[in-house]
Amino acid sequence: MIYLDNNATTRVHEEVVAAMTPFLGEEYGNPSTGYPLGKRSREAVNLAREQVAGIIGALPEEIIFTSCGTESDNAAIASALAAQPDKRHIVTSSVEHSAIILFAKALAPELEITELPVPADGRIDPGALATAIRPDTALVTLMWANNETGIIQPVHEAAEIARAAGVFFHTDAVNAAGKIPISVAGGNIDMLSLSGHKFHAPKGVGALYLRRGVPYTPLLTGGGQEDGRRAGTEAVPQIVALGKAAELAKQRLASSGGEKLAELRDLLETRLFEAMDGIHRNGTTKHRLPNTSHLSIDNVPAGDLLILTAEKGLCISSGSACSTGKRDPSRIMQAMGHSDERALSSIRLSVSSMNTTDEINSAADIIISAVEKIRSLRPQANGPVIFTE
Ligand code: PLP
Repeated sequence: MIYLDNNATTRVHEEVVAAMTPFLGEEYGNPSTGYPLGKRSREAVNLAREQVAGIIGALPEEIIFTSCGTESDNAAIASALAAQPDKRHIVTSSVEHSAIILFAKALAPELEITELPVPADGRIDPGALATAIRPDTALVTLMWANNETGIIQPVHEAAEIARAAGVFFHTDAVNAAGKIPISVAGGNIDMLSLSGHKFHAPKGVGALYLRRGVPYTPLLTGGGQEDGRRAGTEAVPQIVALGKAAELAKQRLASSGGEKLAELRDLLETRLFEAMDGIHRNGTTKHRLPNTSHLSIDNVPAGDLLILTAEKGLCISSGSACSTGKRDPSRIMQAMGHSDERALSSIRLSVSSMNTTDEINSAADIIISAVEKIRSLRPQANGPVIFTE
């Protein structure tokens, strides 16, 4: 099997497994208890808090552990609204993850949402953000990097605009963390969401960065865990794993990890572009995650390609969702102004530091032969290119 779907999830790193394993066995103490067994769990959680704070340049007490990126995103929006009952408007982008968009839409009609449009390059215009902010805006939430296309948003610029307007700023950094250096330095980012399974920790653990001094209303209430900010007995093994994964990600990024990802991604793209016509990158190539390649291939429906490549043991994905037997075009591609045809022929290839050059070459061979097969079976395969840039 070759796994090139690392934006969907990643394999847990063996050092992460080793770090969390004792907490699934003999170290089962509840961190809120005072005897040594519990104290060791508390110390492990404290260390993880420092490690997670370390990848974004935050203070340990600014980290709240959550169950996932979705919870962090939901909590950020809910808290900003709770703190400002007189403000019922948020600004976001048209390419956010559903953990933002659907949570916000569920609060309509009481909550008004402005979704900033993106052109074909996939990035919002910071000038449009400045115009969209109103006196009743409670929050600006803008993702750091898009999970589907890998396009990186001008987060620091947007955070500065929000700060100047006196509006809280949140960023969903779930698909950026561990792949590129991200930092809350500058002090304009009030909240930031992370999720462990996107950078080699297990599923079911995330974190919310909450800048010191920013008011917070918990999503979950009950026990006083996480300094009263997130009730529920801490998931110690997962939290330890998140901490270890953060530490490893920091080391990777410090030792040219990003360049290594880009080398693998670029090798894959070079092979594909050399082998076929009618292949297009979606979105800007200047501001994108080093591990992500988002491509559309003319006359090659992504659904068909995914079936053929899966048969050969290659794991890749497309943004289109299969509902009631028919494929729906990706809403992200639609938001970028692409036609349904181009959206339906888009695929996402996302590498990790665990991939090898040999795997990339084999993956390229599998995709190239699948594309040839699909095109040979389609009547228009040798006809004119149907999509244009
Ligand atoms: N935000 C982004 C950008 C994501 O890519 C994801 C996961 O796909 C999420 C939020 C949700 O994270 P989780 O799966 O941890 O709930």
